[in-house]
Amino acid sequence: MKLLQAKLDKYQEPQKAKAAGIYPYFRAISSEQDPEVTINGRKVLMFGSNCYTGLVNDPRIKEAAIEATRKYGTGCAGSPFLNGTLDIHKELEARIAEYIGKEDVMIYSTGFGVNLGVVSTLTGREDYILWDEQDHASIIEGLRLSFSKKLKYRHRDLDSLEKQLQKCEPDKAKLIVTDSVFSMEGDVADVKGIVELAKKYDATVMVDEAHGIGVFGEGGRGVCHAQGVAADVDLIMGTFSKSFASLGGFIATDKEITNFLRHHSRSYIFTASPTPAATAAALKALELMQEEPERQEHLWEMTNYALEGFRAMGCEIGHTSTPIIPLFVRDNYKTFGITRDLLEDGVFVNPVVSPAVAPQDTLIRFSLMATHTKEQVTEGLEKIQKVFRAYGLIP
Ligand code: PMP
Repeated sequence: MKLLQAKLDKYQEPQKAKAAGIYPYFRAISSEQDPEVTINGRKVLMFGSNCYTGLVNDPRIKEAAIEATRKYGTGCAGSPFLNGTLDIHKELEARIAEYIGKEDVMIYSTGFGVNLGVVSTLTGREDYILWDEQDHASIIEGLRLSFSKKLKYRHRDLDSLEKQLQKCEPDKAKLIVTDSVFSMEGDVADVKGIVELAKKYDATVMVDEAHGIGVFGEGGRGVCHAQGVAADVDLIMGTFSKSFASLGGFIATDKEITNFLRHHSRSYIFTASPTPAATAAALKALELMQEEPERQEHLWEMTNYALEGFRAMGCEIGHTSTPIIPLFVRDNYKTFGITRDLLEDGVFVNPVVSPAVAPQDTLIRFSLMATHTKEQVTEGLEKIQKVFRAYGLIP
């Protein structure tokens, strides 16, 4: 097709990987999403999920979703602005506001839509958005849609952020946006340090807690709470697609801001609300995350056990200290080959290449859930050791 020809000529990677028999994407799961899943009729250990709480197959959440479907139907057929607001959407907003400790919450249909629709809307032509170079793609799409001036700072580098803040005209609005836990490499932002700089330069702070909630802080409230600065972070974003075992996302902030966003944020207004099932599932997950702290404790036990294991093996794991463990390979084809070989050996991991990471930072992303047992983690580590050795990556 003429339309795509130039792009197809330039981007040959998927075709090459397919020809080499190592294409690693769209592997269909045909079972419940436990730590063990079925792919191509075979059971494999799942170390590629973002559901850190492991609640995705919890019977109580499934029941809540089924009950809501019975009561309200399968979809919402409209924007929250018009016919798409249910009482359970309002209930979820109120519960999340209380949980995160903010005046108000808005629920979007995806976390991607939250970042897109918030980052693009809050600042004007004369204002500034300061962003970490490793922020999530949805934040970057939001920036691209904004008319503001954009200043990128080096990854988790407060000196670099301060230099950028110094470039801003003092009387203009400045929005600093960062992930709390970086999604591919599992390292954590110094939100406390960012908040201090924001105070010094009169900036607003927005933190994406997609991978922080369910993992950090009391009741899984996230990194901002764990670092004791939630009250000073102006906007806290979260998603229901990871620890909440559902789909959708939220922004928690002051009423003044939500009132503006409810009338101007296009990815909120011009799309349908989350389904009754997704909404009820998130509500139930929120309850369980607070009532069952032992899940979070076990997640950290498994995380520390795996971190120690990978370090002892000699794997290069960067600066992670979270259930997201990057195993650096630094070569696309080896990364794809390892992904295939591990799947054949019964272990599912995610290959991460550019643009999700810088081209030289290609990695295997290993992630943990609160439902993994120590035996499963041990088995995963042993199999990874075998394959990484075969590729000459570890002694
Ligand atoms: N922010 C971050 C840091 C993410 O990792 C993701 C999902 N990969 C999103 C936002 C988007 O969330 P959702 O899946 O709810 O669209």
